[in-house]
Amino acid sequence: AKDNGRNTYHLYNKAVHRDLAKKLELVKQLRYAVENEELVVYYQPKVELLSHRIVGMEALVRWIQEDGTVVGPDKFIPIAEDTGLIIPLSEFVLKEACKQLHHWHKLGFDDLTMAINISGKQLHLPHLVDDIMNTVHAAQVPADRIELELTEQVFIENIQSHTHFMHAIRENGISLAIDDFGVGYSSLSYLKNFPVTSLKIDRSFINDLPDNEDDAVIVQTIINLAKNLNIQLVAEGIETADQVDFLMSRECGIGQGYLFSRPLSAENITELLENYHGL
Ligand code: C2E
Ligand code: CA
Ligand code: CA
Ligand code: CA
Repeated sequence: AKDNGRNTYHLYNKAVHRDLAKKLELVKQLRYAVENEELVVYYQPKVELLSHRIVGMEALVRWIQEDGTVVGPDKFIPIAEDTGLIIPLSEFVLKEACKQLHHWHKLGFDDLTMAINISGKQLHLPHLVDDIMNTVHAAQVPADRIELELTEQVFIENIQSHTHFMHAIRENGISLAIDDFGVGYSSLSYLKNFPVTSLKIDRSFINDLPDNEDDAVIVQTIINLAKNLNIQLVAEGIETADQVDFLMSRECGIGQGYLFSRPLSAENITELLENYHGL
């Protein structure tokens, strides 16, 4: 039994070593990618359900590796957060997204908004609000066309610096969304305490609509909540026309999902904007 234990330990140790080596290699590659702008920003439209109008975009980062493989953010955002690379990565995304928004405004799509995902790790930066405002102004986009998406986690860690950040951002005219709303440890009190302008219902609640009755009730409740608090509502992950019908009949304002468009390169989105006349 003793020997067995040692073997197990040995195997485990080897596996840990292998994982660590793999992770370090990935960190090295990611650092290279950030420094050499191998990162690309894709965009996914937000659609006003009633009018079918495209009202905004969400910036979603991609990593295009040397061999052309497109790596999604779920594979590298956590590593970027652990290593601090999230800071230069986020600066790149914000700058790129603002420049792109300016370009689309100039093409005549001048109502478009741009949403950018913010990591909780960024909130510890001392000059974050100033940095963001400088980037927004440098790109010559109006602050009220920019929205920051923060996941619920940030609201739960009721840290004073977070509250301060959110109020300062709002005072500068930028909108604030709670991302992935409903998952995690929702406490509705933060809706009262934070200056939130919109809620994004997590796609796990949209997935099984309209058949799943529990989800239907939850979504209905969130819609009512947003309406009563006068907060904009976005449903994520819409893939079917039935889901749109359900959401529209319950007066959910805005939707996002593969049904309308997958996240696409700036070039492909420009083409979509020029040819899109609603579903
Ligand atoms: P998120 O902010 O919740 O973004 C929505 C994710 O759902 C995106 O995945 C999008 O491609 C995907 N999605 C959209 N519509 C549908 C649909 O109809 N069906 C399905 N199955 N999926 C849909 P993506 O692009 O892989 O991004 C994953 C996460 O990575 C994002 O989740 C966000 O948390 C994070 N992320 C992406 N870009 C950035 C960034 O620039 N900075 C930070 N901090 N995080 C980012
Ligand atoms: Ca988001
Ligand atoms: Ca989300
Ligand atoms: Ca998410």
